[in-house]
Amino acid sequence: VRKTKSISVVRKAVAVARKSDAKIGFVPTMGALHEGHLSLVKRAKKECGFVVVSIFVNPLQFGPNEDLEKYPRDLNRDERLLKSVGADLVFYPDVSDMYAPDRSTTVSESCVSKGLCGDARPGHFNGVTTVVAKLFNIVQPDNAYFGKKDYQQLQVISRMVRDLDIPVRVVPCAIVRESDGLAMSSRNIYLSSDDRLTAPILFRALKAAKAAVEAKKVTTAKDVVVGITKLIVGSGLSPVIDYIAVKDAVSLTDLRMLKGTMVIAIAVFFGATRLIDNIEVTVP
Ligand code: AMP
Repeated sequence: VRKTKSISVVRKAVAVARKSDAKIGFVPTMGALHEGHLSLVKRAKKECGFVVVSIFVNPLQFGPNEDLEKYPRDLNRDERLLKSVGADLVFYPDVSDMYAPDRSTTVSESCVSKGLCGDARPGHFNGVTTVVAKLFNIVQPDNAYFGKKDYQQLQVISRMVRDLDIPVRVVPCAIVRESDGLAMSSRNIYLSSDDRLTAPILFRALKAAKAAVEAKKVTTAKDVVVGITKLIVGSGLSPVIDYIAVKDAVSLTDLRMLKGTMVIAIAVFFGATRLIDNIEVTVP
């Protein structure tokens, strides 16, 4: 697999691939890759002749008290994994390749990015939209692949692409989980062994909530939130709940009565580690 830090090398490689009529697929990541990331690359390979993967720990999307410094980085391992799934080009710019010291333009979405992680992480989604807009301009892909693991991010990017007429098809991809149901995340390695054993409660609670909605045992968003809260609080290690919410699946607006297709999203702290998960559900 070819790798480069250079924007112009990416542009040239993509231009060559395009000349031979290849569809360009793009998977943006922050590295520390796992099967979740690789599933996106495999999907991109299936649908596109030339697949670019970016690895960039974007400082703009980290808050002052977040884990930017200690975010896991292992480029050699990432490269090996990307080679094994057939990625064509790895773009791993330095911060100085991406951001001029006097940069003064940002992209900001002001609706879908409110609530959920937007409230818990002020400024986070402006960092995400800004870097993804830049990466789209650098790679100019036909298709870009995003995991539903970061559900709000997926919907914020979709809204940005629509609102700014960016000629990219955003492809949502299913969440990849460990065998016990924990959603794969680069941050799972921070969990203590006790917390790691408790963490699958998140997906168990989401599945129980989905089943209750589908069986019409609950009718309001509040019922769902209360049910999930009970399961998580009863799970022993008393994780600190950041949010549990039921939202419209696309606009992420609040719902009182359950209606249409929704997403149930949760964020919970296990010690200093914040885990997120979600599940889509449609009222029958
Ligand atoms: P990140 O490296 O955390 O920025 O994630 C890069 C991309 O991989 C994003 O589109 C994520 O939603 C996606 N991703 C991360 N974890 C998973 C997972 N467990 N299943 C599916 N996609 C994932």
